[in-house]
Amino acid sequence: MFKAILIENEQRNSPPQVVELDESRLPEGDVSVAVEYSTLNYKDALAITGKAPIVRHYPMIPGIDLAGVVRESSVPEFKAGDAVLVNGWGLGELHWGGLTQAARLKAQWLQKIPAPLTARQAMAIGTAGYTAMLCVLALEADGVTPGNGPVLVTGASGGVGSFAVALLGRLGYEVIASTGRPEEADYLKALGASEICDRAQFSSPGKPLAKERFAAAIDCIGSHTLANVCASLRYGGTVAACGMAQGLDFPASVAPFILRGITLRGVDSVYCPMDIRKQAWSRLAELVLPATIDAVLHEIGLNEAIGRAPEVLAGKIRGRLLVNVNR
Ligand code: NDP
Repeated sequence: MFKAILIENEQRNSPPQVVELDESRLPEGDVSVAVEYSTLNYKDALAITGKAPIVRHYPMIPGIDLAGVVRESSVPEFKAGDAVLVNGWGLGELHWGGLTQAARLKAQWLQKIPAPLTARQAMAIGTAGYTAMLCVLALEADGVTPGNGPVLVTGASGGVGSFAVALLGRLGYEVIASTGRPEEADYLKALGASEICDRAQFSSPGKPLAKERFAAAIDCIGSHTLANVCASLRYGGTVAACGMAQGLDFPASVAPFILRGITLRGVDSVYCPMDIRKQAWSRLAELVLPATIDAVLHEIGLNEAIGRAPEVLAGKIRGRLLVNVNR
């Protein structure tokens, strides 16, 4: 038997709850994993509260990521005792996810946790840190370097934003952190921000072109914020867009694209190819300091995850909610 959060059905006549399940109910897969940690992401909060149609079939164990130890494997790439992690691939949407003590998974979804990270550290970084790293890789692929000028991070106090600030800071960029929470200024500066700005300046409909301020940006927000970020990029600048905390819409003008030659790079963590994932996790293992992990994470147990989901959607969580599934 193992414990997991279960969302029973679409009608939600019974709210998600922690239940005990028999291992015989685990889906088909090549590798069985004793899960140690997962995280509570924005998408998981949407799935748990039912605020968006994240879950594609029922019953579903939510949780888009997990880290743990291989118990059994039918493939040579993984053996019992290997420390592994999974991000995305439809976990918590199409396939039973990470908010569980046991999982059975397809081998091609798994990665070995790169040294020196532990399972706890890997999930403290989680999908948020991995997505932030993919955004940094996207900027680098476009030739952005610290010498180009300041880089804006929107949604800076959130999970992706916190790691984006920390990674860019560690790489020597001048980081401007945009937040609606000025009280988090000290936290963001300790992570690596040079300057804090009020997110209100990007949230309303703006002009097609604004003052050229940023060499590049990582945007977690979408909607008017992303449109205004595009309008505020310097000539030839790049924005890596990964999120939709304000909205899925993109009410923008082509002006910054055709008059300033800016680039908009979309970042997807879920079906990102394995070679890029490996590159991202190897950079994370090298760049993320234990002190950053400690500053960003807040550990909760499986039982607490359901109750914290509305706070995640309300943007009230600073950094990451790490879920210790055995607590
Ligand atoms: P969090 O909830 O941790 O952070 C989101 C942050 O956005 C908040 O902390 C807040 O930052 C800001 N925010 C919230 N609501 C609004 C609003 N209405 N207007 C402007 N800013 C707002 O989420 P994550 O960091 O985990 O994820 C960020 C986004 O990225 C989400 O939309 C998520 O779905 C998406 N995502 C996408 C991935 C991909 O593969 N593309 C992978 C992971 C996440 P502050 O208080 O500092 O202003």
